[in-house]
Amino acid sequence: MPKLPSYLAMRVPLLDLGEQYRALADPIHEAIDEVLASHRFILGPKVEAFEKAICAYCNSPHAVGVSSGTDALLAILMALGIGRGDAVITTPYTFFATAGCIARVGARPLFADIDPETYDIRPSAIQECVERNCQLGSSGQLETKRGEKVRAIVPVHLFGLCCQMDALHEVSERYQLEVIEDAAQAIGAEFRCEERTAKAGAMGEVGFFSFYPSKNLGAAGDAGMIVCRDEGLARKLRTFREHGMGPRYFHHVIGGNFRLDEIQAAILAVKLPHLEKCAAARRDAADFYGAEFTRAALTEKIALPCEPYRDRGLTNHHVYHQYVIRAPMRDPLREHLAKREIETAIYYPLGLHEQKCFTYLGYKKGDFPETERAARETLALPIYPEISREAQRYVVNAIAEFFKVTPNRGK
Ligand SMILES: *Cc1c(COP(=O)(O)O)cnc(C)c1O
Repeated sequence: MPKLPSYLAMRVPLLDLGEQYRALADPIHEAIDEVLASHRFILGPKVEAFEKAICAYCNSPHAVGVSSGTDALLAILMALGIGRGDAVITTPYTFFATAGCIARVGARPLFADIDPETYDIRPSAIQECVERNCQLGSSGQLETKRGEKVRAIVPVHLFGLCCQMDALHEVSERYQLEVIEDAAQAIGAEFRCEERTAKAGAMGEVGFFSFYPSKNLGAAGDAGMIVCRDEGLARKLRTFREHGMGPRYFHHVIGGNFRLDEIQAAILAVKLPHLEKCAAARRDAADFYGAEFTRAALTEKIALPCEPYRDRGLTNHHVYHQYVIRAPMRDPLREHLAKREIETAIYYPLGLHEQKCFTYLGYKKGDFPETERAARETLALPIYPEISREAQRYVVNAIAEFFKVTPNRGK
């Protein structure tokens, strides 16, 4: 490989949280000091205030702060009474927690393949999954052929792009399934359908966010939030969040410790008002990548992220938690970028149906071809609100250089 003159080289990290922290350091430190002085460390006024702010932000009647995105899903499944003898439909192309929680409550994850353009679960694949694996039981309830009751769908708004929620709600209504939105990567994303715009997580009955530090709204540790429409469900979730307790030391259901810390809530409340601005900056950066890839004539070689369904009059507002391209020579490209000091990531190298811990589910290689192809071909490029145009140009030029050196392999 030709060596790049040193004056052209730069380091581009996948994510840089430094600038955001420096801009908000003072109010963040003040908020932390207030918590320390108050001696209220868990589920206090900061958590309550942050829950209210999330309700207002995503136009949801109820919000329940929890200890992580994972615990949010666990608590939702428990509160809905989903467990042994049940099955839940989800995508095999997601972070492990989505299916991990379904399995942890004793239910069976049933996978349905993704749309190759959006990487989100494809509603018609859910329909196919139902036709292949399920039947209607005596009470009219959807069951797997093993006799498990199919209770819910967990769509994941992957990389910050909402699933095709209108089609998905049609399937869920047809079979009377709960929809639990995994919006861990998509806070602030919007989906507009029939004059109604809804925010990710709050498009149906219940959804959740993760505030893991690298997510679009990141805490200084683990944190998560559930949003829901039904007051009864919100009450149940609050009970499950504290060991199924109420009143104190009287336990009528078995919950867990899913509580949110005051310090995390205080930090998140400082950052939330800046989220829209950050999402807009991520969208601008994505547009700039798009323009630069077009300028470098690379759009024949690699597939860029998209905002689909415009042809059907829908708006699907991507918040680019990740900027993911598809490149047939992914691994050599990644190595080339690493040599140019450009950090990239693979989300995810293996479909969940091929994970060792899920062998017992009985899936095999080839069951979800689009998931498997995405696992082989996708690459996440550096993106964050403050990324410089110079850094982005450097990334695009390095990719152009790779395809120039290996022109035929890029097909
Ligand atoms: C991050 C993430 C989770 C889990 O959130 P944590 O806060 O890390 O527990 C769940 N689902 C998806 C899709 C995620 O990206």
